[in-house]
Amino acid sequence: MRRKFIAGNWKMFNDLKETKNFFESFIPALTKDEQITNAIKNNTLEVAIFPTALSLSTALDNAKDTPIIIGAQNACSDIEGAYTGEISPMHLAKAGITHVILGHSERRKLFYETNSFLNRKVKRALEEGLKVVFCVGETLEERDAGVALAMIREEFQVGLAGIPAKDIAEKIIIAYEPIWAIGTGRTASPEDAQNVCRSIRKMIYGLYDDERAAADTIILYGGSVKPENTKYLITQLDIDGLLVGGASVKADSLIQIVKNSI
Ligand code: PEP
Repeated sequence: MRRKFIAGNWKMFNDLKETKNFFESFIPALTKDEQITNAIKNNTLEVAIFPTALSLSTALDNAKDTPIIIGAQNACSDIEGAYTGEISPMHLAKAGITHVILGHSERRKLFYETNSFLNRKVKRALEEGLKVVFCVGETLEERDAGVALAMIREEFQVGLAGIPAKDIAEKIIIAYEPIWAIGTGRTASPEDAQNVCRSIRKMIYGLYDDERAAADTIILYGGSVKPENTKYLITQLDIDGLLVGGASVKADSLIQIVKNSI
């Protein structure tokens, strides 16, 4: 079922002490806000934090007995073996992690993750019972060349190949993140973001011929989201939630974004 999903991607920020400090401020602020707690109780809102791998255990311990979802920023395409430096999706699931971000543009660009490689990661994560926040989005050059939707379609079709419509709707959260808007301070206009998110929903319908799946899939916008632009973005019809990078690292700014989302 579609619901609001506000996710903080900490990237490589917040060490162990900062993680602890974050939750010491974030949890009381979240739990004492009646509107937020009611929305979470009524299943109309989910709040997720994606810390660094090193901070996952600390985050899990701190968020214990709260409704906050703790997710990982990456997971390997295999569950165990000789993969120095990798993170096992099986280990994540066993530790209590429920979500993983895959296909983030920083992983695609800096770590050369291709759509077909990501497809293996997505399938493995689903096999291990993890939900996947799958990122798609175009570069500025692609946007200027008028091929943004074609690029997103390819990322979707190859990255999520072989995944049935029901799983797309229930286990995959799509994050539309225009690469030119990530960490640049430049946000897509709410109308532009809505148009692309609408096109992604239509694309799901076209690819699977499944109206239910298209209607139920959660689609996020990400790219320089801040407390000040949250309302304009979240009120768009096809934007169900936000993937927040820089503005999620500090508790007061993320709590403001959550508040402005309701
Ligand atoms: C992100 O890291 O997914 C992101 C959207 O970053 P920022 O909000 O900093 O643009």
